[in-house]
Amino acid sequence: MKVFYSDHFVLPLPEGHRFPMPKYSMLRGRVAGSSICGPGELREPEAVTDEEILRAHHPDYLGRVVSGKLTDKEVRRIGFPWSEGMVERSRRASGGTVGACLAALDDGFAATLAGGTHHAFADRGEGYCVFNDSAVAARALQAAGLVERVAVIDTDVHQGNGTAAILSDDPTVFTFSIHGEKNFPFHKERSDLDVALPDGADDATFLDALAAGLDRALDASEPGLAIYLAGADPFVGDRLGRLSVTKEGLAERDRIVLEGCRDRGIPVAVTMAGGYSEDVQDIVDVHFESISLAAKMTHLHRERGLTHG
Ligand SMILES: [Zn+2]
Repeated sequence: MKVFYSDHFVLPLPEGHRFPMPKYSMLRGRVAGSSICGPGELREPEAVTDEEILRAHHPDYLGRVVSGKLTDKEVRRIGFPWSEGMVERSRRASGGTVGACLAALDDGFAATLAGGTHHAFADRGEGYCVFNDSAVAARALQAAGLVERVAVIDTDVHQGNGTAAILSDDPTVFTFSIHGEKNFPFHKERSDLDVALPDGADDATFLDALAAGLDRALDASEPGLAIYLAGADPFVGDRLGRLSVTKEGLAERDRIVLEGCRDRGIPVAVTMAGGYSEDVQDIVDVHFESISLAAKMTHLHRERGLTHG
């Protein structure tokens, strides 16, 4: 399966910053040491261009990001100090999602070891998100004439508020978010379908709500492509999650989403989104599981393709 990575584009952070940056390179190491990618399938993404970004973001915001003219308040809201490295990494992260979407159309499934930056709005960044990769990628594929309708399946524990806002008036991209009701962002936007879970929701509660929501979302949207935000932060051990979903529960989540899409013939691009467990290894475990299952299904997809032409 094709997997895109951008962790080697370094985003400099001050010492003691809370963001778990090592998760990206650790996950790439796990993927590189596995049989997920064939030769040449673990790939560096292109940087998204201004033209691609402007399909989802306002020109004055993009201009302030690129030139380093964000206000102090805007920088605090993003949560990363500004640097040219931050801009390049954000472009590459969105490029990874575009790459994964393109690859998914060919192979059924693909992944990026970044992305899921769903708190980025058209005119501002927030919560470690600068550009909204899902909106940028959906519109890139639409602009290329490759798909008409896209569904964003956002299972990160935080609501995909930026994605919902950017795409609120766009009937061609369906936004589904399942998230913690009491968690950040405290002001929720309106997705096409929102499922809010109470604090402490366990595997059964989470998975039942997910399965029902996914059916509704796919029935309503009949997409030609799904972008799956496989956030690791619904995990019970997450510092910011407030839910009680186990690793087994998250693996079952992956199965529900990936098989649900496969059964309807919908290609899926898997993106990372958040993960803030005390032990970074737990975050890597959860993401690796999502990517492994997608890879297994890609192999099956290819075999079927070879058998049936
Ligand atoms: Zn999150």
